[in-house]
Amino acid sequence: MDTDLLIIGGGPAGCAAAVMAASVGMRSVLIESDDALCRALRRIPVVSNVLGATSGPDLAATIEADLARCDLCRVELGRRATLVEGFDDRVEVTVEPVESVEPVKPVRLGEPVGSVKPVEPTEPGKPVKPGKPVGSAWARGSRLTAPYVVVATGVGPLGPEEAGWLGGVAGRALPPLWEADPAAIDDRTVLVLGADRPLCTVARAHPELRTRFVVAYPPEDAYKTEEIRPDARVELVAVRRLEFGSGSAPVTAEIRTVEGERRTLTADLAFLNLGSAPAPPAGAVVADRSGYCPPGRQHPRVFTAGDLRSARFQRIATAMGSGGEAALGAYYASRGQPTGTGGGPSTEMGGPPPDPAGGG
Ligand SMILES: Cc1cc2nc3c(=O)[nH]c(=O)nc-3n(C[C@H](O)[C@H](O)[C@H](O)COP(=O)(O)OP(=O)(O)OC[C@H]3O[C@@H](n4cnc5c(N)ncnc54)[C@H](O)[C@@H]3O)c2cc1C
Repeated sequence: MDTDLLIIGGGPAGCAAAVMAASVGMRSVLIESDDALCRALRRIPVVSNVLGATSGPDLAATIEADLARCDLCRVELGRRATLVEGFDDRVEVTVEPVESVEPVKPVRLGEPVGSVKPVEPTEPGKPVKPGKPVGSAWARGSRLTAPYVVVATGVGPLGPEEAGWLGGVAGRALPPLWEADPAAIDDRTVLVLGADRPLCTVARAHPELRTRFVVAYPPEDAYKTEEIRPDARVELVAVRRLEFGSGSAPVTAEIRTVEGERRTLTADLAFLNLGSAPAPPAGAVVADRSGYCPPGRQHPRVFTAGDLRSARFQRIATAMGSGGEAALGAYYASRGQPTGTGGGPSTEMGGPPPDPAGGG
């Protein structure tokens, strides 16, 4: 066995799993395909729902420092887990080097995303400290073995071709909303396709913008609109179908609303904001019909955490909490204890069995 616990994904969920595992004496190896931990957090300028944190880049830096201090966790950046296999006595994870990793630039309040310096290669097998850029030096198809694995690979962006309600998108450059340069959208009308979370993030991070956001979204996105609805700059349009016109400046789109009304939307620019889909490695990670990977449906040696679990509860704090729970689940399993959060066997005194981790 290479370690007590393998962790796939170095977002808030995977990092929380690593420190929780260390707190109960478990050694872990954390595999992250990017060249830095917590890339998603670096794109969130303002955070208002995480205790003790107000900025994504600052939180990412704090987490990175916590992992650097965590002697029982080895972080492997620039490696992608491609296959998870579950056996009676172990799990095996196949890991490939990532050929090119786009460097991360933290996004601070009022800044657009941009690219920075190129990635440097490292020597094969050399341990990588969090934050250090790495290249493609690991052997192809390395297999790591451990008693348990935490899978916390989050979600990836949905493309326009995956949105059945959109037409006329082929060959059209539609950047994601979170990449929008605030200066380029100020005082403009912006057509936003989909009502996913980045809309809220952009609006909250840039109260100074005089942008008019026309947000066309399918009925199944309705629950995502509640947070943004009070913002006077936003017009929400629930649509069954949106068909782009041929021009690009201005952008025009024919829509059929959920009420059956036909309208033409006109905007200066258009951005994608369709949301995301789970991105687990192949193999033993079990997905439900929605593609998400609920913890309760996994192989007894596989624990899922973070955004990968469900379309709901996709937040930093819940990712961290579930990562910690996943690591404790592996710990309890290694002690032959029940791993669920409720309904385990009771003691004769009527209370739950004692916590071998001692709550520490
Ligand atoms: C624009 C935006 C704004 C947001 N704003 C907020 C907010 O204000 N507050 C809030 O609470 N939440 C917010 N969120 C949600 C929050 O970012 C997520 O809930 C959180 O990051 C989920 O953590 P995670 O660890 O599950 O996944 P992620 O943060 O996505 O981390 C998963 C990691 O796994 C890695 N990975 C994926 N596949 C593999 C593989 N095969 N092998 C190795 N590594 C892999 C990825 O590179 C990534 O680093 C926002 C999200 C977005 C997109």
